[in-house]
Amino acid sequence: MVGIVIVSHSKGLAEGVRELVAQMVQGKVSLAVAAGIDDPQNPLGTDAIQVYEAIASVYSEDGVLVLMDLGSALMSAEMALEFLPPEQQTKVHLCAAPLVEGAIAAAVAAASGSDMQRVIAEAQAALVPKATQLGIAISHPPSIIGEEQVTHDMGAPEEASPTAGQITREIHLTVHNRLGLHARPAAKFVACATRFKSQIQVCNLTKGSSFVRADSINQVTMLGVRQGHQIVITATGTDANEALVALEALVQSHFGEDDKILASQAISSSPTPALSPSSLKGIPASPGVAIAPSFQFKKTTVVWHHAAPIHVHEYHVENPETEWQRLQLALRIAQQEIQALLTHSSIQIGDAEASIFDAHLLFLEDPMLLETVQERIFALHLNAEAAWGAVIEEVANNYHQLEDPYLQERVADVVDVGQRILRILSGTPITTVDLSQPAILVASDLTPSDTASLDPTKVLGICITAGSATAHSVILARSLGIPAVVGLPSEILQVADGTLLTVDGETGNVWIEPEPDTLAVLEVKQHTQQTARQQALAVAHQPCLTRDRHQMSVLANIGSIEDTQQALSMGAEGVGLLRTEFLYLHRPTAPTEEEQLKVYQAIAQILGTHPLIIRTLDVGGDKPLPYLGMQPETNPFLGWRGIRFCLDRPQILQTQLRAILRASAGHQVKIMFPMIATVAEIQAAKAMLAEVQAELRQAGIPFDEKMEVGIMVEIPSAVAIAEQFAQEVDFFSLGTNDLSQYVMAADRTNPQVAPLADALHPAVLRMIQQTVQAAHAAGIWVGLCGEVAADPLAAPILLGLGLDEVSLSPPAIPTFKEAIAKLTMAQARVIATTTLQQDSAAKVREVVLNSLVL
Ligand code: PEP
Ligand code: MG
Repeated sequence: MVGIVIVSHSKGLAEGVRELVAQMVQGKVSLAVAAGIDDPQNPLGTDAIQVYEAIASVYSEDGVLVLMDLGSALMSAEMALEFLPPEQQTKVHLCAAPLVEGAIAAAVAAASGSDMQRVIAEAQAALVPKATQLGIAISHPPSIIGEEQVTHDMGAPEEASPTAGQITREIHLTVHNRLGLHARPAAKFVACATRFKSQIQVCNLTKGSSFVRADSINQVTMLGVRQGHQIVITATGTDANEALVALEALVQSHFGEDDKILASQAISSSPTPALSPSSLKGIPASPGVAIAPSFQFKKTTVVWHHAAPIHVHEYHVENPETEWQRLQLALRIAQQEIQALLTHSSIQIGDAEASIFDAHLLFLEDPMLLETVQERIFALHLNAEAAWGAVIEEVANNYHQLEDPYLQERVADVVDVGQRILRILSGTPITTVDLSQPAILVASDLTPSDTASLDPTKVLGICITAGSATAHSVILARSLGIPAVVGLPSEILQVADGTLLTVDGETGNVWIEPEPDTLAVLEVKQHTQQTARQQALAVAHQPCLTRDRHQMSVLANIGSIEDTQQALSMGAEGVGLLRTEFLYLHRPTAPTEEEQLKVYQAIAQILGTHPLIIRTLDVGGDKPLPYLGMQPETNPFLGWRGIRFCLDRPQILQTQLRAILRASAGHQVKIMFPMIATVAEIQAAKAMLAEVQAELRQAGIPFDEKMEVGIMVEIPSAVAIAEQFAQEVDFFSLGTNDLSQYVMAADRTNPQVAPLADALHPAVLRMIQQTVQAAHAAGIWVGLCGEVAADPLAAPILLGLGLDEVSLSPPAIPTFKEAIAKLTMAQARVIATTTLQQDSAAKVREVVLNSLVL
């Protein structure tokens, strides 16, 4: 049987139609309603997701006929069609028949078993009896969308004749509001036009329609004016000028439509200018649009800190001891500088990634390196600069020769630290990227320390040829809010300083001297993004609720005490991931229990009643700890990291567990173990926790006996047997940074394969879904703390997949909450379900983008 869907702005109206139909056919029809929106303040409207769901609920091989009331109902129905698989789209027909009469006629035909063509014909002819009775001729019945344009089925528009002897004035305008002249803007248009005595007409120039009367809501609506269409308004009469001024103001004000929705949706839905020969494609790394002149930050300037290379002058010294002391002093000064950079990054960037500078500190203490330098100074009577410079060059060359992308990244660190010492020895004051004017920084690569010290008010964008979206310097850029594109073709390095560049960090496109059209589109996109950001901050402190009041917890990922305050100021409802590595990385020995306790307590104190999830030490991988006997590994991400290391070094883990347990007294602390691959690992970790608890109990040291214990789900094996893990713990937190790299077998630090390690790939999304289902089936809660949560496009998917909590970098919290506030749970579920059916991350993004243009 042909199914029927009623789409209306009003739930009441649609239900009324349903009731009438039911009476006519005694319930023998497959009919669904999509009407109104989930906004108690403003319930009139239509929703494409609802329409999609209604169609799906009555769909059969016989097809579905959709009847709509007016305006945006038509657009919502058209969008709903796009969500359907192509083979189903051809069986769903949008019909321009009048809603009440059409629905009844169609239902009667469908209930009697007529095929689609017959049902359509009946619906189209539904006005004939009424028109005949009124003596009105209907020239041609309303048609089906796609076969013929909807025309004047309610009576042809009158060709209004200008008032004799009066001058006709005319204006041309472009309609910019998102849904064009749909029912409500059209009503405002008509209300405005009827305030004047003049005869006013309007036509849709873009569609080449004829003029219609501006005082007829039907005729104005039927012009089919969409966003971007040009209209012409004419006015004839004594107050023609005033009328046109008023109508122009109305159109320019977007008919008073909600610009907030327009602005924030434009973050991901504004049109992207076409790529031209002057544009380059890279990997999107940090979102946002930047428009500014270019500034080439050459590798030599990176190395030599934006000055001419420091000349390493080699000379013979009489007293090697003095040289050695000079070097010792330089090392101490460098230590202070790096420590300052570390602190600055921790505060400003608010992410454990700042701990990359710990590696720099360790480098300064490397005994092998220092011994070699000392030997040169004493044996060859060399000056400190020459001895140091030669050894650094050797180390860097050794790294280079390995030609391993991961190790190449380490070269940048070696050179960075090496140059710092040379600069200090030469007495040159510290300099960073010093721009007198705002610019877009172009470089082959940026070291983390270059990036951490960038001033976001001067460096408006970053273009680099190396890198991956998860490289340390890129994560720092993202935290600083600087739009960035990485992995660009080398042509970008040939661009002369001062050349106008535009960077779209969301799409990975860069335009060199963009065309005016391109520039205009990007300026609009930039403006709307900035407006959306300000609006999001304003509401960030409210709970994260969907339109239908479904709540999600939004917490922060932090890596230091300083991050905590920033997290709260951004609207975090607690800390979902405290990366404790920062406590271990910049020192020669592991932190004591007391040292750790102080930090955990300080963070818990700042959080007050908010929860704090402390993750136990997750070193290894890209964060080796030489003082703990960690040796370089061939595959560090598949090696001795996280819980594997901790279980083999029980002393380290026990000390940390004692500190965490003690900090839990009087605070909302939870504990989380990283890199869990087997049930035996979590059982061993829990056994150790129980031992420490027993010790504390015996010693009368207070701790929270009910402290929740969770694991990070970041290894595919943990997903596969999630229901077994769910019996062991109180919660799961999905670590999609690692999960993506392991599911896709793509090292997250290797630019060559970085695009593969995309958490929005359906393969990863299905893993998330599987984990959520296992957790909920066992009655435990599940969160997610990977970088993907900071991607605004991920918000509907994560909500729709049923996550109870997300934890993300603090600056991304306002935008996440705002994205959730625009959705209903039903919409999010449809989006999530649709994304799971896609075959690529690109298609997943497309699905979300299309859904958000509702
Ligand atoms: C993750 O893997 O997603 C995660 C949050 O942990 P990290 O990035 O510290 O490995
Ligand atoms: Mg991880």
